[in-house]
Amino acid sequence: MTRTFIALGGNLGPVEQNFQQAVSLLNQLPGSQVIQVSTTITSQPVGASSGNLFRNAVLNLETDLEPLELLKSLQEIEASFGRDRSVRWGPRPVDLDIILYDEQVISLPDLIIPHPACWYRRFVLIPMAEIAPDVIHPVKKLSFLELKEWFEKKELHIQFSGGENQLRTKLIKELETEFPKIKFNDIKQVGSKLSEAPVLIIWLGENENQELTFEDLPEVSRLDLSGHQEAEKQEELFERIVEVIQSVISA
Ligand code: ATP
Ligand code: CA
Ligand code: CA
Repeated sequence: MTRTFIALGGNLGPVEQNFQQAVSLLNQLPGSQVIQVSTTITSQPVGASSGNLFRNAVLNLETDLEPLELLKSLQEIEASFGRDRSVRWGPRPVDLDIILYDEQVISLPDLIIPHPACWYRRFVLIPMAEIAPDVIHPVKKLSFLELKEWFEKKELHIQFSGGENQLRTKLIKELETEFPKIKFNDIKQVGSKLSEAPVLIIWLGENENQELTFEDLPEVSRLDLSGHQEAEKQEELFERIVEVIQSVISA
């Protein structure tokens, strides 16, 4: 028997009823038993294309299934709710992600465990802190309670500059939902007045409509992430920024 944690998400149709249905389908998987289910919380959708508010929960599943068998079973359950996979982060009745599989660290093309975003997404950390506060994240080596409290601990001020205006606005919006205690803002022009000294400036690269360059930025910690402007690299960019925030917080 392996102790696993599965995250449930959904924002389409009768989500809570679907979660209950998903729990009974998980209980029917061979050699599997749902041990505990967290409270369902409500959160803002990730990305713009998602529509309604999201409902999220996590559960503890004990299973004899191997990691890839478990992933396949979860995808079959998702499909049974009629999920359309064409839009990443789009509306979906039920999304099932494997958060942890014992203490195993797995990195396969189709399966990464621990789930790469589980250590900073509040909608995972809050329910994990409820049902598994002392369980340790095998890569970060911190408990889920510690991870949840981490980002609430310190007030930070981070500024973005360079890159497309749209990209900055989108990033700031996503980061604000993830880190309510951190202040994010935009520097558009040379000599922009800063109300408060920033701890860190993240530079997203030169763009045609801006005369600003990396060298124009004030001499605080400046991080050049200009290699990540293209749409297909934006997820990497987001993860990189979160890692930087983590290192600043823990410094
Ligand atoms: P995110 O993973 O950022 O939460 P998502 O859940 O919307 O995004 P999906 O479209 O549901 O992403 O899944 C994309 C792919 O992620 C799946 O086809 C699956 O192979 C892969 N994947 C990698 N690691 C995991 C994991 N730990 N749990 C579930 N799927 C995973
Ligand atoms: Ca997901
Ligand atoms: Ca998923």
